[in-house]
Amino acid sequence: MKSPNTPLQALTTTNHDRDIAGLKYIYPVISRRAGGLSIGVNFNPNNACNWRCIYCQVPNLQRGAAPAMDLALLEDELRFFLNYVQQGDFFEQYQLAPDQRVIKDIAISGNGEPTSLENFEQALASIGKIADAAGIFPASHFVLITNGSLVHQASTQAGLMQLARYHGEVWFKLDSATEQGRKLINNSAQSQQKLLENLKTASRLCSTKLQTCVLHFDEQTWTQHEKQAYLQLLRLIQEQQIKIEKIMLYTIARPSFQPEAADLIKADLAEMNALATDIEAMGFDVGVSG
Ligand code: SF4
Repeated sequence: MKSPNTPLQALTTTNHDRDIAGLKYIYPVISRRAGGLSIGVNFNPNNACNWRCIYCQVPNLQRGAAPAMDLALLEDELRFFLNYVQQGDFFEQYQLAPDQRVIKDIAISGNGEPTSLENFEQALASIGKIADAAGIFPASHFVLITNGSLVHQASTQAGLMQLARYHGEVWFKLDSATEQGRKLINNSAQSQQKLLENLKTASRLCSTKLQTCVLHFDEQTWTQHEKQAYLQLLRLIQEQQIKIEKIMLYTIARPSFQPEAADLIKADLAEMNALATDIEAMGFDVGVSG
């Protein structure tokens, strides 16, 4: 495989173009949340997801599942890219600042829901094996960013076991603790019971963190009622002894590609910090990314 032939340009935290390296599945991102180079793996080159979050940044998002993956191509691309970063001049070519010249993680985070991939387990196993052979673990993390809605599937659970083999972690989406809130924000029909079951299963199989996007839309999101429901759900999670490693609060950082884009309002830091304080008081580890 040749060196990426796309025009070189500096990667920034706002440049998340998945085609930047000219590869089908692998793309580099400088992640504010991760604090360095994140090697993204896109399982959804068809821009398909089973949800439609109002803040989603996927262009031409469509409802659906990931297409069958070309595992040989995924493996080729990952080997090539890791070699390019570890032995080649990737960091110089892309003008990364010295403190960003580190692979923070391999993140399965694509243009849709990655666990909808049919050969999900095999894809996870391939990525884990190649990254492990390249010696990037445990210094770099192995992360699956998911909406968590398909954890009941056997293929998803088998993939989570592969992730756990390499001490990876699941970032499980929880944008609202109410069914109405999730309908509004995620356009998802996920019931409370299903949410809890999937969260319980994920955390049993693999280290699990919650990721919550705090934003305002139509005066219906993150109201006092929604905030109390969120804290109440966290109490229930504790009562059910569902192990959550961390709760990551963030807000919209880049424009949504959804019709609601113009009406979305970023949460301010003070609001997020106040929420974080309440969550911390319950004994959870919390991170805030404004
Ligand atoms: S779950 Fe992720 S990919 Fe799917 S619609 Fe929401 S933000 Fe977009």
